[in-house]
Formats: sequence, C-alpha cells, structure tokens
Amino acid sequence: MTHEVPPSLPPADAAAPPHGSPGSLPPADAAAPPRGGPGGPPGAGPAYPAATSAAPASAGPAAAEEADVIVVGAGPAGSATASYLARAGVDVLLLEKAQFPREKVCGDGLTPRAVKALIGMGVPVREQDGWVRNKGLRIIGGGVRLELPWPELSSYPGYGLVRTRLDFDEILARTAQKAGARLIEGVTVTGPVLDDDGRIVGVKARLAGDSRGPGGPGGRPPGPAEPERSYRARVVVAADGNSSRLSLAMGLSKRDDRPMGVAVRTYYTSPRHDDDYLESWLDLWDGPRQLPGYGWIFGMGDGTSNVGLGMLNTSDSFGHVDYRDLLRRWLAGLPPEWGYIEENRTLPIRGAALPMGFNRTPHYTRGLLLAGDAGGMVNPFNGEGIPYALESGELAAEFIAQALARPDAAGAERVLMAYPQALKAAYGGYYTLGRRFVQAIGNPKVMQFATRHGMPRPALMRITLKLLANLTEPRGGHATDRVIHALSKMTPAA
Ligand SMILES: Cc1cc2nc3c(=O)[nH]c(=O)nc-3n(C[C@H](O)[C@H](O)[C@H](O)COP(=O)(O)OP(=O)(O)OC[C@H]3O[C@@H](n4cnc5c(N)ncnc54)[C@H](O)[C@@H]3O)c2cc1C
Repeated sequence: MTHEVPPSLPPADAAAPPHGSPGSLPPADAAAPPRGGPGGPPGAGPAYPAATSAAPASAGPAAAEEADVIVVGAGPAGSATASYLARAGVDVLLLEKAQFPREKVCGDGLTPRAVKALIGMGVPVREQDGWVRNKGLRIIGGGVRLELPWPELSSYPGYGLVRTRLDFDEILARTAQKAGARLIEGVTVTGPVLDDDGRIVGVKARLAGDSRGPGGPGGRPPGPAEPERSYRARVVVAADGNSSRLSLAMGLSKRDDRPMGVAVRTYYTSPRHDDDYLESWLDLWDGPRQLPGYGWIFGMGDGTSNVGLGMLNTSDSFGHVDYRDLLRRWLAGLPPEWGYIEENRTLPIRGAALPMGFNRTPHYTRGLLLAGDAGGMVNPFNGEGIPYALESGELAAEFIAQALARPDAAGAERVLMAYPQALKAAYGGYYTLGRRFVQAIGNPKVMQFATRHGMPRPALMRITLKLLANLTEPRGGHATDRVIHALSKMTPAA
C-alpha cells in the first residue's frame, strides 16, 4: 500500500552529509549496505525482510516511506542511533511524535559520562554554545556538606554540563538530521508492521497536523486527524522512552525484578542559578524513615534552578508518598534567600518514571532493537539515563550498520542477535551491582547508616562518586578504578 508523503520531505539523500565529514567513522559509503536488500543468494532464508530498503535519490515521493532503518523517538537514544547510522551511510528515518523544541521532564544534569558521549556525537559543548559547565557534585547529608570534583581521568572529561531538555533534545535531533537522518516530527507511531513470521518490517503511524519534515517548519496546516500510514524498513529501533509502546506491542513488557525510580522536578528563579556544582541532598524523610533517593538543585545559568527529587521502588514508602508534597516539605527547610518558594516557581511540578538496570529485555528480537529508556537503561546507582541512552544508541547503530552490510539474512541476524550481549558486557555486571545497592538502601536503616558513616569520610565519598556515576578508567587507572572494574566484571550480568 502506498501513501502520500508529507510535502516537506525531500528525497532520501537530500540531507546526506558530505563525504569525509568530521568524526572517526568511515565515509558515508564505506559501511553502506547494498541498496535494494540484503542481496543474499536465492534461498538464503526469509528471516530478513525482502527488498524494501531506500530508493535512490531520484525516486519519487513514495520512496520516503521506506528506509534501511526506522528509529522511533528522537530523544537522546533515538537521535544518537540515527546520527551514528547516518554517519555510517545508512538510510535512516527518525520518527518523533512531538515537534521541537519540546519540554521533557528531567533534571537537565549531565555528568562527564554524558559529556563524553556528546563530544563523540560531534555536538559542540563550549560555554559560548549555551552550555553551563559544572566542576563536580556537592553532596549534603547527615549534617555534612562535601564538594567532590569530578575525577581526573583520561577516559572522561573533568567537567559536567547543564542544559534544558527543551534545547538539548532539539540539538541532538538536529545533529542527527545534519548527519543525514530523515527526521519527521509530529508522527506518532501506533504499532509495528509485522510479516508472516511475526518479524517487524516497519511501523504504523499517525501524522499530527502541522507536521514538519526535514528542513524545519512549513508543513501542512493543522487539520483533522490524518489516516494511519505505514513506514517500512529492514530494521526498527525502539527509542520511544520508558513506556515504549512499540516494545509492548512486540510483546516486551517491563520486568518486575528490576528497580524502578520515580522523580519529580520543577524550576525556580534563584540567585543560585549559576552554581558551578551539581548539588544533591540525601536527607529525604518520610516520617522517621530516610528514603532511598535524593533531592537535587542544578543551576541552569538562566536565572533559574532545576529542583527535584527521585526515589526508588525498593522502599516500603514507594507508591505511598506524595512526591510533590515531599518536594515542597524538603524545600521548606532550605534557606529562604535561595528563592525556592512558590512565588518563584516558573513551571508546574512534573514527574516521570526512571526505568533501571535493564528493566525491559531482550534488547533485540525479531527485527527490533531497544535503546535508552525503552530498554530500561537508567543507572540504578544515581538515576542518570542520558549517557546510557546516547551510548546504547551508538552501540545499536554499530550493530545495525554491520548487520546491513552482511550479504545474507542469516549473517545479518547473527550480528543483531549479538547486540544484547554487547550491552550486557558494557553494563550488565555494573547494573547487577546497582540492583544490590538499591535493594540495600531500600532499608531505611542502611540508608541512614550509609549517610551517617559515609559522609564524614571524603576519601571514601570520592570513591563512591566514581562508583555511583560510573566514572572509572576502563583499563589501568587508579587502584579504586581497578577494584570497581573487577567488581563489575565479577558480578554476573543477569
Ligand atoms: C524527573 C527526572 C529527572 C531526570 N534527570 C536526569 C538527569 O539530570 N540526568 C540524566 O542523565 N538523566 C535524567 N533522567 C533520565 C532521563 O531523562 C532519561 O533516561 C532519558 O531521557 C532517556 O532518553 P531516551 O531517548 O531513551 O527517552 P526519552 O528521552 O523519553 O525520549 C523518547 C522520545 O520518543 C518519543 N516518542 C514516544 N512515543 C512515541 C511514539 N509512539 N511515536 C513517536 N515518538 C515517540 C518521545 O516524544 C520522546 O521524544 C531524569 C528522568 C526524570 C523522570
């Protein structure tokens, strides 16, 4: 079935990057899969969908409905996946239900791990580009206030960043677009298109009115709901966030045996808006119980602070606490001159879930790869999700580009099946440790003990910071790095 194509979509290659563009990846054609399908010998097996790949640049508008790869969701995971795929010369369609700029509930804090991933993607992160730098993490708890600079490492920069998701996600999506990905905003994916074997060969979607294709605004005026249309591809990536309807429709639901967090945040105008440390507060109390989680204050550099708190489902209080009220009670105890009072609040308090420790698996099945929150990749130790979204996007792109270049379906499938193993090798042991950690601090007595006895020991807290933010040298490095590594490697990646 063919459908009309949004008028603003240029032909497939219009936004392709010039050969030899920056970055360490090969020139656009080097890893490009053979156009027109896997090209395997006749009878190589039907596991891989037949020739639905991108048409040549000269093809008519209908060709825009097909691509080598469809990425659903242009958050950090989707934009990273699409960016790296496009840089490898793969024809990729990036479908996003919202229109940029759009808000996203987040703390807006980026550790050096996220900064490294941004640099790898080619995103300029200079202060003159609007980024606010931070030097480290200030932790307050048990009556102690500790300033811990980010560790000096060869593998990660010594600074973090802050940027509103309103800007951040658009920057990433435009980066993917510049690399050559075909971004379509205002397209809500409603489900998979399956072949007879139950393998995903595309997605069904509805186009909202006023859609914008590549090239920015100028799409159609708002109108009645569009009919459902379909987009076809050889591989699909679910990067549609925590609820990942696409994964659900493919039978991949959340795992109950993995931790989950909930976090709420808002913004206040504050004299502390240009704080050069990220600040976290461990003293969150539900009556006599210290809760497993923390409050944060991140200066946005624009006259406001992002203020929020998150907690884990390993506590008995989880689900019984009114998080907005908890936030207000915590803020009521802070110095009034910081300005975190109702009159200075600039946005509503909003919350969302933090899917942790691989809470949706397998990360590959029947033509569908999962990246970022869709695959439950938030770090259980600290609730950070952006670096893992960016890194898993890069990894997914690497596997897909290799798979598409295999001459036969079986070979391609073998490559894609190895993606979950690569994720496990990267994070599995560390996330297992994280699960044990959150289980332990779910007990208020353990949380209290850790705060009371950890905080007065700066040397111990410096090591803890490395562990919690996953900032160690992968090879060599300080003895503490080697210990953390050994622990992660020894712990089974379940
Ligand atoms: C309150 C809070 C604070 C946080 N603070 C931090 C922090 O300070 N630092 C940090 O590193 N992490 C933080 N996180 C976690 C972080 O926000 C996520 O881990 C991160 O956004 C995951 O990126 P993603 O691309 O996987 O998913 P998302 O960012 O959720 O992106 C998914 C995208 O898919 C789109 N989409 C969804 N469904 C469809 C559909 N059907 N069709 C088309 N498009 C669709 C969405 O519109 C969205 O653009 C926080 C989370 C919360 C809730």
